[in-house]
Amino acid sequence: MSDPVPEGAAPATEEVYREDAYRRETPASVMACDEKGIVLDRTVFYPRGGGQAGDAGVIVRADGSEVAIADTIKSDGAIVHVPAAPASIPPGENVTARIDWEKRHRHMRFHTATHLLCAIVPHQTNGCSITRDYARLDFDMVEPLEREHLERELARLVDEAHDVRTIWITDEELDAKPELVRTMSVKPPRGVGRVRLLEIDGVDLQPCGGTHVANTREIGRLRIAKIEKKSARTRRVVLEFA
Ligand SMILES: [Zn+2]
Repeated sequence: MSDPVPEGAAPATEEVYREDAYRRETPASVMACDEKGIVLDRTVFYPRGGGQAGDAGVIVRADGSEVAIADTIKSDGAIVHVPAAPASIPPGENVTARIDWEKRHRHMRFHTATHLLCAIVPHQTNGCSITRDYARLDFDMVEPLEREHLERELARLVDEAHDVRTIWITDEELDAKPELVRTMSVKPPRGVGRVRLLEIDGVDLQPCGGTHVANTREIGRLRIAKIEKKSARTRRVVLEFA
């Protein structure tokens, strides 16, 4: 459940995680470094967005020393690696950007699980948060949700081992395939040229810019930690790993 990514304005940073969520590190060059953080020409760090938390990790400097990165954010269109302590790296230095894989993989598993939940609960979502320890999804609905039903259906979809893949599609292709839009649980934005779709084979299709696992079996066993009536029209579901 992440913001769809329009083409158009070329990002200053090559976003390696968009094409390969499993890449743990990449060589890169420092483009800028100020009090906000470090901007690279290429990165594997996912910046906080679309409900998914930003990545943590390290930037390994040319001399082998490590700068701990506490968070990754988007600021004025740039992907900013926020250091845990003030850091200064001169522009042009060649570094290695390496994510905290254990944390990221949990984000990927939870994020893919939220797509499964979207497929199980036939209502629009109006809020989403994906962290290391839980995933939270708010549905625009008044009907009650049943914990056993959700857990059973999630377990089934995980066990069925559905492949997960990214598809890029143009406005023209969307116009040519109206049935594709009808099957989507979230409608794609128009007029941005090209949209990134996340397909879980036979289960879910929607615009999404986040990071996901390659097959639903990789999510593992889930439990529903909480189902809340957050407001008259919102039901909140909190997922944890069992
Ligand atoms: Zn997603």
